[in-house]
Order: sequence, then structure tokens, then C-alpha cells
Amino acid sequence: MAEQKRDYYEVLGVSKTATEEEIKKAYRTLAKKYHPDANPGDKEAEKKFKEASEAYAVLSDSEKRSQYDQFGHAAFDGANGFGAGGFDFNSADFSDIFGDIFGDFFGGGGSRTRRSGSGPMKGANLRTSVRITFEEACFGVEKELTLNLKDPCPTCGGSGAKPGTSPQMCPKCGGKGQVVYTQQSFFGTVRNVQNCPDCGGSGKIIKERCPNCGGSGYTSSRKTIKVSIPAGIDHGQSVRIREKGEPGLNGGPRGDLLVEVLVESNPNFERQEYDIYSQVRVSYAVMTLGGEIVIDTIDGKVAYEVKPGTQTGTVVRLRGKGVPTLRNKDVRGDQYVTLIVDIPKKLSKEAKDALKEFDALHDHSLEGDAKADKTTRSGRKKFWK
Ligand SMILES: [Zn+2]
Ligand SMILES: [Zn+2]
Repeated sequence: MAEQKRDYYEVLGVSKTATEEEIKKAYRTLAKKYHPDANPGDKEAEKKFKEASEAYAVLSDSEKRSQYDQFGHAAFDGANGFGAGGFDFNSADFSDIFGDIFGDFFGGGGSRTRRSGSGPMKGANLRTSVRITFEEACFGVEKELTLNLKDPCPTCGGSGAKPGTSPQMCPKCGGKGQVVYTQQSFFGTVRNVQNCPDCGGSGKIIKERCPNCGGSGYTSSRKTIKVSIPAGIDHGQSVRIREKGEPGLNGGPRGDLLVEVLVESNPNFERQEYDIYSQVRVSYAVMTLGGEIVIDTIDGKVAYEVKPGTQTGTVVRLRGKGVPTLRNKDVRGDQYVTLIVDIPKKLSKEAKDALKEFDALHDHSLEGDAKADKTTRSGRKKFWK
């Protein structure tokens, strides 16, 4: 061994009969003093920190402590001393003590934590939803939402502290709102950032609570908010209303309100992106001979001229009769209408006789029905339930 190792008890400055608590306390004090985060670039402090950590790793473990008491450093020394030696430093459990230490350690010192507790911060976003009809989604609509919104408490001005008192800086995190747990080993530093458990991330502790808000700093009231839902919105999309969310922290702006739009289904129309799919029943005679039919669109009824010999399942496109696009409501999708032959279930005797007469006159061998049917179905998505 190149260098004589100091006695572990000496390193921690405790007696050989020190209790677990005394050892822990002594280490806390040293670790705070010599932690690399408090002494950036200070090699001597780093050395002392490692030395103390090593001593603590041994003396805090009753089994290792008893080996050390019997054999001294020889109990753990390999050929090159501690680092390559008898036990794995990383296996020592520092988690509880580091939790203790670095809570108040970082409270006092300069740290590299993100400042969540002190600077102005935007408030959290709020989420809600609104239900609208298919037509309202197509053409846009204005809705009024009533919801509970928080405001800074007028009595305490948002501090949460009783008037005349003020919140104090959280001693655990020093007002940062976050604590860093660092595990130092010979192989590097492992760093964990967590919300401060004492102040919940606010960086402040309130001793005497404001009687109006109970210390939360906020009051809540029912508010009515107008939501302008644009034409073309689809089911599941959200509208963002700026600064109608939770109040900001430390003078930051409010969060946003995100309103998810739930579009009711429509029995006549199905939407795919900006196109609309629908179906219309047409009599056998009109499909065969041609003629005018009426088709429902989101703009109302439109007339359509069916060509003679139209097969059932034929899809016709009505250009620009789809949903207005969000970007530009004058640009619209199309409507695809499937024409279906309407097969009557009840016929008068006269109609039945006429149909039989027609069937007798009609020469099936002239038709290519099955073939024509295949080509006009055209693979368009089937949606009618
Ligand atoms: Zn208050
Ligand atoms: Zn705190």
C-alpha cells in the first residue's frame, strides 16, 4: 500500500464505541462539508469525501464494522488497496442517508438543480371536453363551458400564508422545489432529481395558513368560458384556449385550457378525414330507366340524376359536399354516395302481377349483371351498418 490509511473512526471523528446514530450523524456532517457539489474542483475535498464515504460504508454495516474492528484495513484490502480490493463500494447502501443529507444540503448550497420553485412558471394546463353534433363539427359552433377555475386568493394574494405573515423558504430544498440525491462512488456520480417532499415542489413552507384559502393560495369559482369550435374539427381533436388553465406560479402566466371535442355520430353520414360517406336507396325502376333522386348532404337536400342502367352499389361523388377543412372552411372534402336498389317488401297484388309480367318479358340472357356489378362496386369502403 502506497499510503497509510487513516483509521475509519478517526476519519469520522467518532469513538470506537460510537452508536449507529452517532456514526450516521458524523458522516452527514462530513459529507455536507466535503461533497463535490459544494466544492467544485476541490481535489482535497473530494478525497476527504471519498474517505468519509468509505469509512461510513464500513462502519454503518455491522458485519463489516466487526471485521474492521478485528482486522483493521486488512479486512478489506486487496493487492492495491480499497479500490480494487475486498468489497464493492457500490454495494453499500447510501440511499437513506443521502436522502437525509441532500435534502438540507442542497437547501444551503449552490446547486445545479432546475429552478422549479423560484422563478415565474406557467400554470398547469386544464383539460375538459365538450360534446357537439356532427353538423356542428362540420360548420363550427360556439359553446359555453362552465367549470371551476382557480384564482389567486384575494386575502393572501396567492401566498397561502395568513395576512401579516409570509411563507418561508423550504429548508429542505432551499426554495428550489427540488432535491438532488447524489450517490458518489469511485466510478462516478449518480444524480437523481426529485420534487421536494417537504414543500411539494413549491419551495415554500407556510407556518400560518391563510384562513380564506386554507394555505393553498387559491380560491376556486364557477366560470363560464366561451369556446369557439372551428368548422372541420373532428372527433377527439382539442381546442386550446390560452391562459384559461391553472394560475401561474410566482407571477407566471396561467396554463391553457384544452377542450377535447367529442362529436356525436350521425345516422346518415360517416366521416373519413374531410370526406363524407352516405347511402341512398333508389327504386329498381329509377336505377333501370334513370331519373332524378334526392340525396341528403350536410348542406341539405340536393337533386341527382341517376343514369339508366345504374347498378346497385354504384358510388357517386358529390364534389365539395364533404366537411370544410380546418385550414380553410371554403375548401371542402367530397361526399361519396352509394346507390342501393330498394327492394320492396310489401307489394299490392297489382304491383306483384305487373312485376311478374315484366319478369316474363325480360330476357335475362341479354344482361351481364354479375360482371357489371363487380366493376361498379369499385372497392369503396363499406360502412353502412
Ligand atoms: Zn389565501
Ligand atoms: Zn422544499
